[in-house]
Amino acid sequence: MIEISSPVRYLKGIGESRERLLNRLGVSTVGDLIFYFPSRYEDRRNPTKLSELQPTAPGEKTLVIARIVAVEKRRTNKKNFSVTSALLSDEGGVLIEAVWFNIPGLEKVLQPGKLVSLFGRVEIRGGLQLSSPEIEVIEDENDAALAIVPIYSTTSGLSQKILRRAINFALDNVEIEEFIPDGIRKLPSVKDAVKSMHSPIDGAEWLSSRNRLAFDELFLLQVGLGMRRRIIGLQAATPLNIGTGFNSFISNLPFKLTNAQERVINEIIDDLKKPHPMNRLLQGDVGSGKTIVAAAALMAAADSGKQGALMVPTEILALQHFSRLRTFFPDIAFISGSQSIQERRKIHASLESGDVKIIVGTHALFSESVSFADLGLVIVDEQHRFGVLQKQSLIQKSSICPHVLVMTATPIPRTLTLSVYGDLSVSVIDELPVGRQTVETRLTTPDKIRGVLNFALKMKKEGRQIYWVCPMIEENETLASAVKRCEDLRTCLKLRTDLIHGKMSGDEKSRVMKTFEIGDIDLLVATSVIEVGLDVPNASVMVIEGADRFGLSQLHQLRGRIGRGDRSGWCILVAKPKTAEGKERLDAMLHTNDGFKIAEIDLKLRGPGEVCGVRQHGVTDFRVANLMRDQKILIEARAEAEKILSGDPQLENEPMLRNAVMSRLGNVLDIAKTA
Ligand code: ADP
Ligand code: MG
Repeated sequence: MIEISSPVRYLKGIGESRERLLNRLGVSTVGDLIFYFPSRYEDRRNPTKLSELQPTAPGEKTLVIARIVAVEKRRTNKKNFSVTSALLSDEGGVLIEAVWFNIPGLEKVLQPGKLVSLFGRVEIRGGLQLSSPEIEVIEDENDAALAIVPIYSTTSGLSQKILRRAINFALDNVEIEEFIPDGIRKLPSVKDAVKSMHSPIDGAEWLSSRNRLAFDELFLLQVGLGMRRRIIGLQAATPLNIGTGFNSFISNLPFKLTNAQERVINEIIDDLKKPHPMNRLLQGDVGSGKTIVAAAALMAAADSGKQGALMVPTEILALQHFSRLRTFFPDIAFISGSQSIQERRKIHASLESGDVKIIVGTHALFSESVSFADLGLVIVDEQHRFGVLQKQSLIQKSSICPHVLVMTATPIPRTLTLSVYGDLSVSVIDELPVGRQTVETRLTTPDKIRGVLNFALKMKKEGRQIYWVCPMIEENETLASAVKRCEDLRTCLKLRTDLIHGKMSGDEKSRVMKTFEIGDIDLLVATSVIEVGLDVPNASVMVIEGADRFGLSQLHQLRGRIGRGDRSGWCILVAKPKTAEGKERLDAMLHTNDGFKIAEIDLKLRGPGEVCGVRQHGVTDFRVANLMRDQKILIEARAEAEKILSGDPQLENEPMLRNAVMSRLGNVLDIAKTA
């Protein structure tokens, strides 16, 4: 009996060596093979007639079905270089040539009289020519051979034919069970859907099959996330007991909170008063004022006699948060990997004893030797920069669950939030503090750097401070180029110029940032370490060299450092983009300041896994579903998942579904052991 979990070598026609090749494609079980879907299809019912052949547009390919008339192999003068060419014709009687380079043995496969399918570019070389098309000899000229045919991405030694046979054999000999509960199951059945993914009868059938399978994937994830949310919701947390300290903090703020800030603070405080842990995501564009919301939450924790931890991705940002929060919290400490072991030990001891109430730090907060007396609240700033699992390890530091707030300036569409952070409640800051001015963004090329230098001088005369971000080349080179750039600019502009980069000690960084903050540095040369979080309102000009080498969200974050005060800002991108994608990123920067729009474009360019920092998470690696394209299916899947879980949170009546969730997502979502 062959089962879905059987190794592929149980299939007819698959021996050890083919099994090894399949393994290379990530296929080890029969189930993997059945769900190994084609990378494209060839509609052999409607090939292009040779008489109607046209040169293809860039990036396009044409499908031709024709019979081989003659084959020739030529060696050229260059050593080891051969050209195989075939003359082909179809029923219309037109002849056309196809050529391939350096494919040993191809001339033996291409026997005159055989029918072949060719898929490739058509070019004008004398006459029309198919150049290096993908080729398949059609052995049986029956109906199936001239239908819509699946083409798999494969590896050498494993032909399309072998793959198709193995998949068909598997489909005929194993059962694929449904894990979708009866009430919401749709047609086609999972088995029919899988079959039609491999050999669709037509486009409509294929579409309903792929949608059905996309639903399965998204539904499963939503059930997993829903279970996770319920498990967290059942855990005990200490309700915070918020009193006078918090109230006087709010009434003594140096500015009036925006409505959005007030709203999200209330949402957070409501959560913190509950006996179950808060698990909330705070989204707000750069400069929208998330730090003060974090401070309010920390104040609520301190007010209740609990400890609070604020974790950030860079030491520079940790230092800045630390020095600002110090005015509110007398018992605050700072921790980072660049401190000496003795220093860190002292901090560990005071966290364990409870002497330190609020801690601000980098990844060093994850260290195993960190333990808390009474951790009530964890805040992760710039969450997209951390792996999801890393965040977990901090949360698990407390025997009773702490409340958790994660903050991010990468706003993503709501549907995507549901899928990637579907276990979190979401708060959004959707307005900027009043009086914020715009940032003008301009693009210039490296040969016009003179103009940029003059502009910098003019800006300094207006009393503005300037960030000068250096090109990101290689890790080491960045540093060298930043040091050199700083020297050059100092000599050339005669401004008060200094440098900040990641390899400096914490004390040095702190000194430079403070000098910059009090206005004693005019021009700060920096690597991308200043990308996140920093806040120096008087710095309203930024020059970004090699701007095309940064990611889009990264550019938006960098630009977010300026335009924070009441003066409009200038962002000068210096670049000569070489790739189309690089151009697209810079274009986006020139056309919008809106973090949401930037995030959407970035999602298109890089995909959700990268943008949301959840790639390592693995849960968004779907076979069929696509988080951007399938938003409607996602919403439906979520609604159905919630319906089921609300009546049956442990899925006791749905053992198949429960098994599927646990086996595929139990570990990544950390629900396997608790449920
Ligand atoms: P981000 O959301 O990027 O973390 P910050 O919290 O660093 O933004 O805030 C950006 C700047 O706006 C800071 O200088 C902060 O003091 C200021 N700010 C925050 N909230 C307000 C407000 N309600 N009114 C005026 N300024 C504010
Ligand atoms: Mg911030």
